[in-house]
Amino acid sequence: MKSVLIGVGQAGGKVTAALSDFDTRNGFGAVVGSLAVNSARSDLQSLPLDTVLIGGAEVNGHGVGGDNELGTRVMRNDLQEVVGAIDGRTTAEAEAIFVVAGLGGGTGSGGAPYLVGELQEIYDRPVYGLGILPGRDEGSLYQVNAGRSLKTLRREADATLLVDNDAWRSSGESLESGYEAINERIARRVGLLLAAGEATRGVGESVVDSSEVVNTLRGGGVATLGYASADASSAAAANANVVTSTTRRAVRSGLSLPETTTAERGLLVVAGRPDAISRKGVERARSWLETEVDTMEVRGGDFPTRDDRLAAIVLLGGVARSDRLEGFLERARQAARAEKQREEEDDDAGLTDDRIDGLL
Ligand code: GDP
Repeated sequence: MKSVLIGVGQAGGKVTAALSDFDTRNGFGAVVGSLAVNSARSDLQSLPLDTVLIGGAEVNGHGVGGDNELGTRVMRNDLQEVVGAIDGRTTAEAEAIFVVAGLGGGTGSGGAPYLVGELQEIYDRPVYGLGILPGRDEGSLYQVNAGRSLKTLRREADATLLVDNDAWRSSGESLESGYEAINERIARRVGLLLAAGEATRGVGESVVDSSEVVNTLRGGGVATLGYASADASSAAAANANVVTSTTRRAVRSGLSLPETTTAERGLLVVAGRPDAISRKGVERARSWLETEVDTMEVRGGDFPTRDDRLAAIVLLGGVARSDRLEGFLERARQAARAEKQREEEDDDAGLTDDRIDGLL
C-alpha cells in the first residue's frame, strides 16, 4: 500500500525514519513520502527526513514538554505550513496517509489527533493513526496524555494501529535503551504490511493486494498487527505446519497490542518464497484465525519474497476485546482521577484563585 508517513513528535519522527529506511533498504517502494513535524528543534535535527518545526512563536524550538494541550495548540497555529508540506508529498500514487506518534508525550500526543482530523477534511484517501502506547512502567502523565490522545485519535482516524511499548521490547531491555530495537521491529512489521500490497514478483491469484489492507481497517476503531517467522523447507508440501504454527505465534505472542482476543476483521499475509508457501497451511491458518479472534471476515494472501524463512503477518481491524487495552485505559483513568484530585486539593489549599483571570 503506497503510503505517506507523517511523524509527529520525537517518537513519531524516529519511527517514521526507521520505517522509511526499512522500505528503502529493501527496495519496496511502499513509502512514497515522509515528513517529521515537531516543536523541539533538536529532535528534528537528528532525523534523516524533511522536517517542519511548529510552535516557533510559542516555544521557540524548545518543545512543549509533556503538555499535550499545548501540543494541539502549536499544531493548530502552524497547520498551514504542515499541510503545505504534506501536500507536496502526497502524490496521486499515495493510497493512504499514516500519522505516527507516541501518544504519551506532548507534541505527538496533542498534535497527531488534531492533524488527522484536519487531513480528513482535505483528502479522500484513508488517514490512519499509528499510535505508540506508553509502557506500563511509564509515569502517570504519560498514561493520562495517551488516554486523552487515543480517545480523539480513535474518533478522527479511519483506523488507529496501536503499538504497546511493552509489546515488542526484549526482556531485560529497558524502555529507553530499547527504543532503537523497538523502532526496528515496528519498521519491519509495519513495513512488510505496507510492502505486501505492492508485491509485483510472482504475481498470482493468491498475492495480497493493498485493497485487502484497506478493507481490513475499514470500519475504524483500533487495529493491531502481529508478526512471527520461522525456518522453512524449500518445498511447500512440508510447510503446512510451519504456516499454521507461525500464524498462531504471530497472534498469541507477536501482537503489537497483546492480549487481543476478538476483532471484527482479520488479514493473514504469508511471506516467503512462492514455492515454499503451503496452500493447505494457509487455508488452515485462516480458519484457525477465524475461530481465534471470533470473526467470519478473514482475508488472506501471499507476499512473495526471496527470503528462505516464512513469516506470518496478521492484521486485526476493529479490535473488540483486548485485556491489554483495557488495562491501559484503566491506568489512564486512574491517573486522570489522581491528577484531578491533586488539583482539587491545591484549590482547597488556596493555591489557585478562581477570581484571578489567567493570561490565555
Ligand atoms: P513528543 O516529542 O512530545 O511528542 O513526545 P515523545 O514522542 O517523546 O512521546 C513520549 C512517549 O513516546 C513515551 O511513551 C515514550 O515511551 C515514547 N517514545 C519516545 N521515543 C520513542 C521511540 O523512539 N520509540 C518508541 N517506540 N517510543 C518512544
